[in-house]
Amino acid sequence: MTSHRRAWITGSAAAALGVAIAPGIRLIEVAQARTSGEAASAKVRWGLLIDTSKCDSGCDACVKACSDENGLQSAIEDRQRPQWIRKVMLTEVKTGRQASAPMMCQHCAEPPCVDVCPTGASFKRADGIVLVDRHACIGCRYCMMACPYKARSFVHEPLANQRAQVPRGQGCVESCTLCVHRVDRGEQPACVEACAAAGRGAILFGDLNDANSEIARRVRALATQPLRADLGLDPGVRYQGL
Ligand code: SF4
Ligand code: SF4
Repeated sequence: MTSHRRAWITGSAAAALGVAIAPGIRLIEVAQARTSGEAASAKVRWGLLIDTSKCDSGCDACVKACSDENGLQSAIEDRQRPQWIRKVMLTEVKTGRQASAPMMCQHCAEPPCVDVCPTGASFKRADGIVLVDRHACIGCRYCMMACPYKARSFVHEPLANQRAQVPRGQGCVESCTLCVHRVDRGEQPACVEACAAAGRGAILFGDLNDANSEIARRVRALATQPLRADLGLDPGVRYQGL
């Protein structure tokens, strides 16, 4: 999106044990597929391209898949329930055109959630995936206030029946991990698979840095845009059809 074509967000509305070994590089261990000693590569930048023309406003297959994959089921009231992905209606300011789309952590290249974190719990992997280290998070929620996409949730309730591959913590903040446990196994995020299985195919996952990847080719060839490009955060999630 160019700065004069702003899409404003309206809407209905991993933790991982990370060990810093050098600036920008963390080893992800414990319940992650990547083996200890193997760092995420800075050659890669994982991202999503969401085609709003294929997204049905009545479909929430991606939201359900995220909840199942990451064990986000909750008994508490909606307002406090952790939600890593939600369906929203995006409104193009100039034309007023509206489009349905899923909204999650945008995995910003310049993430304010990382800048404001007093403990370093909020961090960006070398491959662009933004995560929270639950062992370092003190629950101050500065990152929630700093995130312009309202992508983060606070875990209010005691947790039970957690997924072994997605460790979470009461009193911590969390958000979409881009299914890092799946990505590190060479698989796609759960929302991408669910959208395809629902016959929509509205979400494409891939390496934005690989000029030959489908996502990079489509970002080059089509009118795609990040949300709120005017903020200069360089999100790894792009939208098409706005
Ligand atoms: S969308 Fe929010 S939580 Fe995600 S990287 Fe950007 S600022 Fe951080
Ligand atoms: S809530 Fe946790 S991750 Fe967010 S800023 Fe505070 S310590 Fe960092």
